[in-house]
Amino acid sequence: MAAAVITFCNNKGGVGKTTSACNAAAYLVALGKRVLLVDIDPQANATSGLGINPSGLERHLYHGLVRDIHPGDLIRHTPLLNLHLLPSGPDLAGATVELISADEREYRLRQLLRRVGRRYDYILVDPPPSLDLLTVNALTAADHVIIPVQCEYYALEGLAKLLQTIELVNANLKMRVKLMGALLTMFDRTSRLHRAVAKEVRKKFPGYVFETTIPRNVSLAEAPSFGKTILQYDPYSHGAKAYRKLAQEIISLDHA
Ligand code: ADP
Ligand code: MG
Repeated sequence: MAAAVITFCNNKGGVGKTTSACNAAAYLVALGKRVLLVDIDPQANATSGLGINPSGLERHLYHGLVRDIHPGDLIRHTPLLNLHLLPSGPDLAGATVELISADEREYRLRQLLRRVGRRYDYILVDPPPSLDLLTVNALTAADHVIIPVQCEYYALEGLAKLLQTIELVNANLKMRVKLMGALLTMFDRTSRLHRAVAKEVRKKFPGYVFETTIPRNVSLAEAPSFGKTILQYDPYSHGAKAYRKLAQEIISLDHA
């Protein structure tokens, strides 16, 4: 069986894509799954968040996408057994330009991941905060999409636009990417606005919002500066418990 590929997608920055991808990956591993985390953001936050210095890498995802290096030669082990990383580096920004006239440029990541798909149960993809060619690659590679959303005033509009984007990708690039769910992140239950937005989102997109809500939690913000996931940094925190629950929910939905 090939891995289920899940992309954490939102063209807005700072909504919790990277935090969710890294920590969901850690807890999928804790639940016995083999996981590859793919960092396709030139800012390489997931790479450094897992303790690997992106500017010290000789080869990374860029070399897979643009130079056809086998992903097996790019993937790194992490301190968590069964959590592997396909790292990003600063050169990745150039890939968008270098691939502009390449064949099948929208499907490069998909083709790359096919070569290692059997080694994993899940491949989680962390794209940049944009809708550029790298993000298109992250979408065409995906079986499922998780949309992290912050509970703010424009959340519903943003979510509706993203769903349209997924439909456009499916229609124009002949894909069948499915929404696994919207994930409410950085939730503050003492905030009336947060509670109201969460309720609206659940009402407008019934069945497409994760039951798990990720609370605002300082340990989640601190962990990456130590190159650790929340499982390694503060496993008893509220943030850790939420990502464990999310991982369980992902497993149950993927098999549904
Ligand atoms: P994105 O990848 O969408 O740009 P990040 O995951 O990098 O977003 O999150 C943006 C910032 O918010 C980071 O500094 C991160 O540490 C912090 N953050 C993310 N989720 C939480 C949370 N649940 N509680 C507290 N801080 C968070
Ligand atoms: Mg990010």
